[in-house]
Amino acid sequence: VIEIRDLHKSYGELEVLKGVDITAHKGDVVSLIGSSGSGKSTLLRCANLLEDSQQGDILFKGEPVKWKGSGLHRRPSDPRQVLRIRTNLSMVFQQFNLWAHMTILQNVMEAPLTVLGRDRADVEQAARKYLDKVGIGDKCDAYPAQLSGGQQQRAAIARALCMEPEALLFDEPTSALDPELEQEVVRVIRDLAAEGRTMIIVTHDMKMAHDVSDHVVFLHLGRIEEQGPPETLFGAPKSERLRGFLSSTS
Ligand code: ATP
Ligand code: MG
Repeated sequence: VIEIRDLHKSYGELEVLKGVDITAHKGDVVSLIGSSGSGKSTLLRCANLLEDSQQGDILFKGEPVKWKGSGLHRRPSDPRQVLRIRTNLSMVFQQFNLWAHMTILQNVMEAPLTVLGRDRADVEQAARKYLDKVGIGDKCDAYPAQLSGGQQQRAAIARALCMEPEALLFDEPTSALDPELEQEVVRVIRDLAAEGRTMIIVTHDMKMAHDVSDHVVFLHLGRIEEQGPPETLFGAPKSERLRGFLSSTS
């Protein structure tokens, strides 16, 4: 579904991604791990075109992103393609970014209504279905401030699902949560993985990465230092840096 080839991204003088390749086929769960500042969030934002990149290709369902200009002036050239890709790669952030003045149901319905222009009755039915799925079907009429962190994050996941995306991109979905609330979100992510959803997950939760991933990528200073199936990456890490990283997180 998503293929990234030799991606380079700089902020001014600082090169944050130095040629990264990542592929998530349909049904794949790919986890991205690495130290703070290694470029994990930047990679996700580049993948769904929230950030520009200067070199390399991004393909969505085999369709390459069309660019105009080059280097620091490179931008996507087709706004409709950008919208199609962005709405099909739904992002879930560390901070849930729910609209405080809208109920949970309204939050989940907002983008399918306004961005995709879908029929209100259909969207409402889907929104209730996804809120049930993440276990907060009884919170439709509550406001975000009335929910726990774990419930808010599950609402944010329902909101991403309600776009009916091809893939979900998670950026540290559990790191703003207390450990006991973290588990309810992990459970939802496990269910989604078991359903065969395509996902790229940036996480510091090595246990979750081990359990849900088909493929794990360890990023170090903007490069892939090591990657492989979770059993190998966690069970028999080759890179010294990865071994150091894993011992610092456990
Ligand atoms: P963390 O685990 O802390 O979330 P990360 O791996 O997600 O880290 P990024 O947020 O991708 O790391 O940041 C990679 C590098 O890019 C860091 O050195 C960061 O300071 C820099 N960076 C990120 N966003 C910007 C920005 N908007 N402007 C300038 N530099 C940035
Ligand atoms: Mg980050």
